[in-house]
Amino acid sequence: MKDLRLLVRPNIWRLEPYSSARDEYSGHEAHVFLDANECPYNAPYNRYPDPLQREVKQLVSDVKGIAPEHIFLGNGSDEAIDLIFRVFCVPGRDNVVAIDPTYGMYSVCAAINDVEYRRVRLDERFQFSADALLEAASQNTKAIFLCSPNNPTGNDLDRDEMMRLVEKFDGMVVVDEAYADFSAQRSMRDEVPGHPNLIVLNTLSKAWGSAGIRMGIAYASVPVIELFSKVKYPYNLSALSQEKAKEILSRRYDVAHWVKLILTERSRLIEAFRQLPVCRTIFPTAANFFLARMTDAQAIYDYLVEEGIIVRNRSRVTLCENCLRVTIGTPEENSQLLAALRKYPNT
Ligand SMILES: *Cc1c(COP(=O)(O)O)cnc(C)c1O
Repeated sequence: MKDLRLLVRPNIWRLEPYSSARDEYSGHEAHVFLDANECPYNAPYNRYPDPLQREVKQLVSDVKGIAPEHIFLGNGSDEAIDLIFRVFCVPGRDNVVAIDPTYGMYSVCAAINDVEYRRVRLDERFQFSADALLEAASQNTKAIFLCSPNNPTGNDLDRDEMMRLVEKFDGMVVVDEAYADFSAQRSMRDEVPGHPNLIVLNTLSKAWGSAGIRMGIAYASVPVIELFSKVKYPYNLSALSQEKAKEILSRRYDVAHWVKLILTERSRLIEAFRQLPVCRTIFPTAANFFLARMTDAQAIYDYLVEEGIIVRNRSRVTLCENCLRVTIGTPEENSQLLAALRKYPNT
């Protein structure tokens, strides 16, 4: 890995972070707070939330088995993705490399930050080669984006190949594990303490059933976490989000139960899809959705909309021609989807 100082934007390396009233006070027990121009009424929401989200981080640490210093919390993973660009990439000069197809936010964030986005196509099994990604990289490549399990394909990326990339690339490697809670593959988070160029993303939006509260997680080396913390908005997670995050993180056995239910339903749905005349191929999945190649994805998508059922048409995505992406719902919702597809096209 290059020296971190050479990877980070010079203005960010030099940045003096905003110091809030709550940052400056620490130490003694206090009970009269007259430092932050808050209103003394309407407790507890009159108070600014903890900018470092210490209690939430401790719970994430307990659940995920990684020290709090390696944890950044953001307003969705999208905040962490955006911060990667804002911390590392000089607009108009630097670039990033990513697998293709993958999650759309990486390229949108690249475009917003005026950073060139280089796509490297996956193979027909939706796997990547570390060498192909390295070949697409240049002196100005600051980060390589991987996503495992990948969206919209659903498969785990090969873990050994990910490790090879982390070891060979001299910039940052980002592994988005938004769906890892559904996967049996060992998380790349375990590799963060020993690999300072690795950033692993996770979220409460999928398995944890909390897309509405907006909380994403990044695991990275301590200096990278410190850079993210100094660039983020001081109060990027509201008091309400932090409360709800603590609540759900204390219910990990309920969440594990939901994951089991979803995986059981996924098997049932995939088995039923195999019997449908309109379904050609179902791709292997380690997530709470699957990708299916259909006879005519657009027509089936339109039909399902008429029936009040929304799936995702991914037909225009690289390697996903005629493919629908189907999220696993409740047993009842999944049965409604199957009932509708079984009477297609004879309506
Ligand atoms: C859904 C998803 C996320 C979640 O983003 P949030 O901003 O945390 O809701 C992140 N990455 C991928 C690949 C996703 O599919």
